[in-house]
Amino acid sequence: MSESASLPDADPSALTIEAARSAILRALTPSSKTVRISTTQALGRVLATDVESPVDVPPFRASAMDGYALRFAEHETLLHISGVSLAGHPSADSFPTRCCVRVTTGARIPDDADTVVQQENVDIENDHVRITKAPEKGLHVRVAGSDSAKGCLLLDRGTRLGSAELAVLAAHGIADVPVFEKLKVGVFSTGDELVTAKETPRKGQIFNANGQLIESLLQSAALSIVDLGIVGDTPEALRSVLESSADCDVLISSGGVSVGDADHVRDVLGESGSVDLWKIAMKPGRPLTFGFTGHQQPYFGLPGNPVSAAITALLFVRPALNHLLNTQTAALPPLHLPVMSTLKKLPGRVEFQRGIMMQSEKGEWQVDTTGLQDSHVLSSLQKANCLIELSMESAGADVGDKVRVYPYQYFSHATL
Ligand code: AMP
Ligand code: MG
Repeated sequence: MSESASLPDADPSALTIEAARSAILRALTPSSKTVRISTTQALGRVLATDVESPVDVPPFRASAMDGYALRFAEHETLLHISGVSLAGHPSADSFPTRCCVRVTTGARIPDDADTVVQQENVDIENDHVRITKAPEKGLHVRVAGSDSAKGCLLLDRGTRLGSAELAVLAAHGIADVPVFEKLKVGVFSTGDELVTAKETPRKGQIFNANGQLIESLLQSAALSIVDLGIVGDTPEALRSVLESSADCDVLISSGGVSVGDADHVRDVLGESGSVDLWKIAMKPGRPLTFGFTGHQQPYFGLPGNPVSAAITALLFVRPALNHLLNTQTAALPPLHLPVMSTLKKLPGRVEFQRGIMMQSEKGEWQVDTTGLQDSHVLSSLQKANCLIELSMESAGADVGDKVRVYPYQYFSHATL
């Protein structure tokens, strides 16, 4: 229960965002189904085992500069250029005393050399080199295994594979990896008023926005999202979609979770599974349904208003899907920016207003609201490039006050 129940906009039976999210994560068992795939197909997938380095990287001592490889002890001597080692075309490992070897960046350094002097710091006299700036011993030598040594832990189980991770795997000659199987996520939109973009709305009907919104918001290479379409507001329609989606790992619906409607979702799910309707101390997105279907699929019933559906999907569903995929939702810090207009709010709920971050003429970053903040106003989501978070206790903000700002990209990953 919220500790701030005495605040004007507080509901004593509401859960905090953190309490609701922890309850969801506690109830979910991460997947153990894995599959080995080519790294060329692995962007965005979640690694299913720790990966150790099978080789040293770099695999040999390599030059960090174009220059001359030599014995440090001889750097004050006139040195004869006795060989050349180019990237991919190494010289012999030995070379005579009072000699040096011409090297390019990335070339293997002969075993007899311990130092590289860059070409700008030498004078060339016929086939000889005279060093004009004394080096330190070991200069410009990339030590074998200095990036990662054979046997070291390269990547942890549960790592989401991005471009840096794929490059690390490639640099170690790893061509396939075990990842967690894609989760099959079914998404449907409830509402007798909804029609698809291909249909002509009759009186009182509207186009389905949430299907597109939720599916694209959660889209990830680690998921296979299935569009289950529009489902009417009857127990039969709900039973029918639950039957036809028995092969999904997770189900997400929008709409039908306001009081009254919710009983209907709860009743049907209660016939074989169980769900709870939660009030969450946040705005938008107060009602949220969470539970399990009769097929033991985690079920998320998001609010129908599109902005509420989007914010609850980001705050609750995305971390839950990551948890099921055995990966963490990375937290990045919010920004604290001065606000350009007055923000109204009553204490008692955390509020997420849609904001636009912009630079002043002086180049300083600040944030303004997108205007109308009602939870049906989809354009507020579209115009925004961030969310402004006002705390439970906050009574709004005056011009110039610093507010917490989550750039959309950050927000989508935040665990706040
Ligand atoms: P509900 O939670 O079903 O009572 O819906 C709350 C509000 O959101 C109503 O105005 C619905 O018409 C609207 N709504 C519900 N689902 C959708 C949807 N898929 N697309 C657009 N608006 C919706
Ligand atoms: Mg509805």
